[in-house]
Amino acid sequence: MKAHPDLLENNSQFEKHVVPLAPGLWTATGYAASNIHMVEGAASVTIIDTTESTKAAENILAEFRKLTDKPIGRIIYTHSHRDHISGATVFAEGRDIPILASAGFQSDLVNVDATRIAPNAALGRRTQAQFGIGLSPEDRVSLGCGPGDRPMQGLGAGSLEPTERVEANRAIDLDGITAELIMAPGETDDHMALWFPEARVLIPGDNWYHAFPNLYAIRGTPYRDFAAWANTLTMLADLGAEVMAPGHTQPVFGADAVREVLTTTRDAILHVMRETALGMDAGRSLDDIVDALTLPPELASKPWLGEFYGKLGWSARAFAAGTLGWYDGNPTHLGTLSSRTRAEEMARLAGGIDALAKAAETTDNLQWRLELCDHLIALGHPAEALKADTMTALAETEINATARNTYLWEAKRLREAQDA
Ligand SMILES: [Zn+2]
Repeated sequence: MKAHPDLLENNSQFEKHVVPLAPGLWTATGYAASNIHMVEGAASVTIIDTTESTKAAENILAEFRKLTDKPIGRIIYTHSHRDHISGATVFAEGRDIPILASAGFQSDLVNVDATRIAPNAALGRRTQAQFGIGLSPEDRVSLGCGPGDRPMQGLGAGSLEPTERVEANRAIDLDGITAELIMAPGETDDHMALWFPEARVLIPGDNWYHAFPNLYAIRGTPYRDFAAWANTLTMLADLGAEVMAPGHTQPVFGADAVREVLTTTRDAILHVMRETALGMDAGRSLDDIVDALTLPPELASKPWLGEFYGKLGWSARAFAAGTLGWYDGNPTHLGTLSSRTRAEEMARLAGGIDALAKAAETTDNLQWRLELCDHLIALGHPAEALKADTMTALAETEINATARNTYLWEAKRLREAQDA
């Protein structure tokens, strides 16, 4: 299966190695969807985040054990997303060690599961689609935030509840090394960053990684507060870090580089907010706002703002819905046509179902072809194979890994349903 060359090239961000950040500080990247950081104190080590699976955590622990055999004294979670907490049992090794997280720990993903009143089946299916669970390694070339090919044994299996919830910013002694725990709402409300003032190392969690930020995750997520995320990026930039080790992708070295990636990512978020707000104020449709939305040249040229993970258009829709709700201001959209009624009207306009099918087969516009396929399927006309082929064609040119994976995953599902 072909893939967008820029998406393939971005896999250099998932190089598999343990990177020294400063004396006593390391980050393991490329072993899992997310990174694990280790801090070596006088007589014990601290583990920051634990990846998405027990197998990946075991692999990383084996690498860390080549550096030190000191016992693991504590675990710290930067936030509650499952790709950061699911290897904790591997590091606790059956002992009752402290596990620290912010007081707000329990963000969108975990919360949805716990309440049992949310559409869990939809979330589960869409999560599988976004991360291409079940796709071949050749098709799943990237997760956008991590390597497509990584161990899946013990996926989501090894999380442990925090034993200590941090209420507000404070310093902590990690067995001789001082870290500041900083409340940093952004990708989730419950984010906690770590700042090592002596080594000038920053661990921002998922508030920064080498990709346009995932302001809206297509697996499904409540509104992520754009303004809070932008403010947090300013606050983190002002720390003056010389090294930054994010929750995904490679560490950034050099004070100027760290400041630049943080402030330009903030500027990209503010740009989406501004353009969406101006468009809505001018009464433009969301489709037109999304269609015209690009980053200004000075931001578009930054490789870390490539849409490998988050996407500008999806972010604009999320910002509009998060601030004004679903109604877009056009009274046409106050009423509803069922899919079937709309499809019947489309077929009538086209001159019948066969003419509609012909239009779907002959148009060069792949997005339009998908929409026509949906009308045909609503009418019971077999267009599943054409829809699957069209999604596959879109996947091959898509720079966004979560869109690519979703197109391929849903295409596979459609073909399997046909074969059954
Ligand atoms: Zn993450």
